[in-house]
Amino acid sequence: MSRLSQLSAARRPTRQIHVGSVAIGGGAPVSVQSMTTTKTADVEGTLSQIYALAAAGADIVRCTCNEEQAAEGLAHIVPRSPVPIVADVHFHHEMALAALEAGVHGLRLNPGNLRKPQEIRMVASEAGDRRIPIRIGVNAGSLHPELYKRYGGATPEALVESARVELALFAEVGFDDVKISVKASSVPLMIEAYRLASETFDHPLHLGVTEAGPPPAGLVKGTAGMATLLAEGIGDTIRYSLTADPVEEARAGRQLLEAMGLRPRKGLDLIACPSCGRAEIDVIGVAKSAQEALEDRNLAIQVAVMGCVVNGPGEAREADLGIAAGRKKGHLFIKGRIVRVVPEDDMVAALVEEAEKLVAEGIEARLAAAEAGAEAEAEADRRALLEARGSDVNQAGEKVALIRKTVEAQHRDS
Ligand code: SF4
Repeated sequence: MSRLSQLSAARRPTRQIHVGSVAIGGGAPVSVQSMTTTKTADVEGTLSQIYALAAAGADIVRCTCNEEQAAEGLAHIVPRSPVPIVADVHFHHEMALAALEAGVHGLRLNPGNLRKPQEIRMVASEAGDRRIPIRIGVNAGSLHPELYKRYGGATPEALVESARVELALFAEVGFDDVKISVKASSVPLMIEAYRLASETFDHPLHLGVTEAGPPPAGLVKGTAGMATLLAEGIGDTIRYSLTADPVEEARAGRQLLEAMGLRPRKGLDLIACPSCGRAEIDVIGVAKSAQEALEDRNLAIQVAVMGCVVNGPGEAREADLGIAAGRKKGHLFIKGRIVRVVPEDDMVAALVEEAEKLVAEGIEARLAAAEAGAEAEAEADRRALLEARGSDVNQAGEKVALIRKTVEAQHRDS
């Protein structure tokens, strides 16, 4: 097996549970979760956010169940939701019971603030009767005070012990339909806690860096923690916790899994070169226009926007489709082979047109339909650009000469 395919194959074995129709653990694809930010009692508002989250890539959505009106809202939301719904419960065990009554597909309990053993057993027993799974959602910020004292803080051992104690209470009523999370806002702490949890339990793990904050820092923290663990084969379902529109969480979750090769590409993957002195166009502007024009078309292909025809088609030869600029023209390429040359002003429109044809007809058919002479024209433009710009494309030599002249002049004047 190649090292590349090991990443998706070498998942740590876990048992499998089901949240509604979504399998978690036991070799199932890693799933994406997010959480609504609306009041759950606002049925239409919450449903419209759930639909947006599902469209952005969420497989499961969590809603808070913090009061009776929220539980009543769930009773209306669950039957109309396109994805399974998990009720998030803190402090009040009766809210967990009410959510079960509302028909949710899963519960999340926080052992740090729902502490009475008889209440925990009651919820587990009721969930067991209804075959509804529970996530033991340990959080470093709300760790049980007794564990905090015993371990001298929210250590990885303390977080895992909190989950173990809850599991033992569940076991007393014969309930084991469980996934576990041991989240922290500190990335190193979260990584160590999940590694320990993975050695300790064979239950599926729900990954997350909690309270990660607004993007981009929140995205970086979430990615640092979750990608590290996923690359080690740890994690069965994930959630970004961002201080942002939750649609961003769902989108990022999906993109992370696709980027790591853990889920097939569902939508567009637009790549673009970082631009340099050779760029013949405003790469950022063209990439943005291409993204906007292609995004809503739901095409599951990789598209490249490259600043020059000198290196672009070669550098992006893995992309399904791409465009490279040169000499006021757009050079359209498929898998690195130039298939069409269009005026620069038409390059985004031509890219969109070719993307749709590529999805409809396939790569081989579009390569066969390549315009005669396109490759020769691109090669001529490439050579002309190389001659015109030479090797010092950033004009660094000229700049250095200018700097030396300025410094010398200043020395003379002083
Ligand atoms: S494709 Fe061309 S413009 Fe873009 S980074 Fe590479 S050499 Fe520079």
